[in-house]
Amino acid sequence: NEAKLKKQDVAYYELGADEKYLNQIRLINDLKQAIEQDQLVMFYQPKVDLKQRKVTQVEALIRWFHKELGFISPEEFIGLAEQSGLMPALTRWVIKNVLNEAVVWREQNVNVAMAVNLSAYDLAYDDLPNYVSDLLVQCQLSTESLILEVTESAVMEDPEQALNVLHQFKSSGIKLAIDDYGTGYSSLSQLTSMPVDELKIDMSFVLKLDQSKDDQAIVRSTIEMGHNLGLSIVAEGVENRDSWALLEEYGCDKLQGYYICKPQSSSDFIQWYANYDVLSEYQA
Ligand code: C2E
Ligand code: MG
Ligand code: MG
Ligand code: MG
Repeated sequence: NEAKLKKQDVAYYELGADEKYLNQIRLINDLKQAIEQDQLVMFYQPKVDLKQRKVTQVEALIRWFHKELGFISPEEFIGLAEQSGLMPALTRWVIKNVLNEAVVWREQNVNVAMAVNLSAYDLAYDDLPNYVSDLLVQCQLSTESLILEVTESAVMEDPEQALNVLHQFKSSGIKLAIDDYGTGYSSLSQLTSMPVDELKIDMSFVLKLDQSKDDQAIVRSTIEMGHNLGLSIVAEGVENRDSWALLEEYGCDKLQGYYICKPQSSSDFIQWYANYDVLSEYQA
């Protein structure tokens, strides 16, 4: 009995680390089930095109409402999916779901392109481009319907391999965006080697744009540089009208953020889309 107690003592002291580890394993198992049993849902957030004065794209963002634990943010479980080898299955689930939704939206005259996030692990294998092309054909969607967002850091993990996959997407006609631009470690010369169409300025430079002269300088010059490289510029994290006005003054192409609309379910988004009028922003 004494020996048992001692063992428990030891276990007790290690419980912190152990428990964390067990929770992670449990979460990985739950995630695997969630993918298989469709317990995940996609939310959608619009990007407003300032030149065309309309919503031209919608970013799909994954949501997991766990049966017992409630909402778990993608920041928490995308990492787990990557570490546990679930990423290929998760990404395929996401793309399939989003393209199926795009078909439904098309029938309802919601004519927007879908932007989907990829992780570094999705660029580590060569088979995703074919999977995506086949799905587009099956859904009778044009390649214009899809934009893939990748971060600089995802590309930098293995640049040669990642660029190869990106070129495959690009040559099939799918547009690519660099996400969270300005936070990664890629150099400007690497930026020009990526076959991208769109550059999304990280929201850390945008959230307080209206209050920070430094952010204004960074954002303004990033927009100018991006334009000189022929890229369309998106600002993410637009939370107020003053930031909108500054971005418009700088010539930013597209805006995304809570000020316009939070990510929401497909049906809520469709309702929002039907009622949204960009022009109301310009009536003083
Ligand atoms: P991201 O691709 O950079 O997505 C933008 C994140 O900023 C989203 O968080 C969005 O909800 C949030 N956001 C949008 N506008 C605003 C704003 O005005 N203010 C603030 N404070 N936040 C705003 P979310 O949905 O939690 O996603 C976080 C990250 O998780 C994404 O960053 C992306 O890297 C990853 N992620 C989300 N869904 C997927 C997915 O389906 N696949 C993969 N591989 N990654 C995903
Ligand atoms: Mg994104
Ligand atoms: Mg981002
Ligand atoms: Mg991000």
